[in-house]
Amino acid sequence: MAAVAAVAAAGAALRARILQVSSKVNSSWQPASSFSSSSVPTVKLFIDGKFIESKSDKWIDIHNPATNEVIGRVPQSTKAEMDAAVSSCKRTFPAWADTSILSRQQVLLRYQQLIKENLKEIARLITLEQGKTLADAEGDVFRGLQVVEHACSVTSLILGETMPSITKDMDLYSYRLPLGVCAGITPFNFPAMIPLWMFPMAMVCGNTFLMKPSERVPGATMLLAKLFQDAGAPDGTLNIIHGQHGAVNFICDHPDIKAISFVGSNQAGEYIFERGSRHGKRVQANMGAKNHGVVMPDANKENTLNQLVGAAFGAAGQRCMALSTAILVGEAKKWLPELVERAKKLRVNAGDQPGADLGPLITPEAKERVCNLIDSGTKEGASILLDGRSIKVKGYENGNFVGPTIISNVKPNMTCYKEEIFGPVLVVLETDTLDEAIKIVNDNPYGNGTAIFTTNGATARKYSHLVDVGQVGVNVPIPVPLPMFSFTGSRASFRGDTNFYGKQGIQFYTQLKTITSQWKEEDASLSSPAVVMPTMGR
Ligand code: NAD
Repeated sequence: MAAVAAVAAAGAALRARILQVSSKVNSSWQPASSFSSSSVPTVKLFIDGKFIESKSDKWIDIHNPATNEVIGRVPQSTKAEMDAAVSSCKRTFPAWADTSILSRQQVLLRYQQLIKENLKEIARLITLEQGKTLADAEGDVFRGLQVVEHACSVTSLILGETMPSITKDMDLYSYRLPLGVCAGITPFNFPAMIPLWMFPMAMVCGNTFLMKPSERVPGATMLLAKLFQDAGAPDGTLNIIHGQHGAVNFICDHPDIKAISFVGSNQAGEYIFERGSRHGKRVQANMGAKNHGVVMPDANKENTLNQLVGAAFGAAGQRCMALSTAILVGEAKKWLPELVERAKKLRVNAGDQPGADLGPLITPEAKERVCNLIDSGTKEGASILLDGRSIKVKGYENGNFVGPTIISNVKPNMTCYKEEIFGPVLVVLETDTLDEAIKIVNDNPYGNGTAIFTTNGATARKYSHLVDVGQVGVNVPIPVPLPMFSFTGSRASFRGDTNFYGKQGIQFYTQLKTITSQWKEEDASLSSPAVVMPTMGR
């Protein structure tokens, strides 16, 4: 009984501490209608282990995408605040890097437990700021949690190499060591998963970390930072700044930042890759996508249509791995009317409403852009089989909703095919053969993900082998690898040499040091050893 009471008391204390993160990252964060304009909650900076109010005079409104009410404000951090955050990371780096790897692992082990205990709370916050359904928001946290669990295996992942007796009495071995201060810049669509791709992996290796979350959805990162502190991460090892281009330029240029992890659009990613690399930093950049699902006529029709609908419209299509393009091969084109019927059944609603299958888009501008791309399809000769542009959601008339939309008769030269739409829109192409389908996919510049639906092993093997895309699903519509593998988007979807998480994640956040050592037994006994000139010979 006493043990149960103690656990309950600990839970209540944790909740109370979380509430201090910012007045608002938790249950006190209410829609703006409950506040006067002066009481709109502000997102704090996290510097040296403290959640502090920015002194900035430039603030960005955060909106609930289902209502467009202002629910918070996030600062554009001042130069002094950003400098203080990097100094904090730099100051704490030597001690954190010297902390036993087992102690760092223990912090991560406690962290994964705290994330599990607070998963629903984090998800609720994601739905409020980002709009996705609560089920999708929980998935967002869960996929990030898996990376934290993977980071707990650091003791095996970070091992160096050894080679004994490379010559007489001489051994060669290597260590993987942290880089120093690393930084992360994240997008709006996965407010928990993507920050969790970054700082846990970097920090378990001994780096300290500066996060700049998406200015549209900063809440989940703040709560995750509080939980990380509660798990035992020392003050100053993780710092958080906010802002847009100014903060991004600051990160790219700062001489004390050694590596940048970026996830977001191609426009920002290419820019950050170039600018960060120019300043001598390691940069890994996961960017945009156009993912094709190739449907063979021998596929299991029921499964395939269900998978296509879920992967194209789930999360309102705001997923870099959304299956946004279908290629129907041969007789599979006859399935189109049934695909439309299934898509029609999806329920569009605010993400926190029971039964919602998809929520709103992130901003009115995103909705306008998606609608314009649908328009472009009609203008360029495609057919709109299902049109979600004029959808009205009862009770949420001001939200950024677009219903499931299917555009058929699409050709590769059309704008709606060439652009990443990032909304609940499936564009459909048709081909007579698998070879033609493969050519279309390989001619597209992006290489994030693709899937083939077939019951023929040889067809699946041929497609997986010939398609030039980094992540391939066989009867799996969204083939995001588990974190013991790496996220291996390729071509225009990725810049850099080393991918996120998996073994490659550890490689990105570490550098090798090799040690060649010679210990002769007679060294200890000889008083004056002979001079030996080192040569490159054997
Ligand atoms: P975004 O590029 O607009 O923003 C990402 C980050 O970059 C934000 O922190 C933002 O402040 C900053 N930023 C935005 N524009 C910038 C600019 N011009 N210069 C410098 N910094 C800038 O991306 P988004 O709209 O938040 O996210 C959606 C995009 O992210 C889509 O293209 C999607 O495919 C991509 N994405 C890719 C992956 C992946 O793993 N490949 C995962 C998730 C999202």
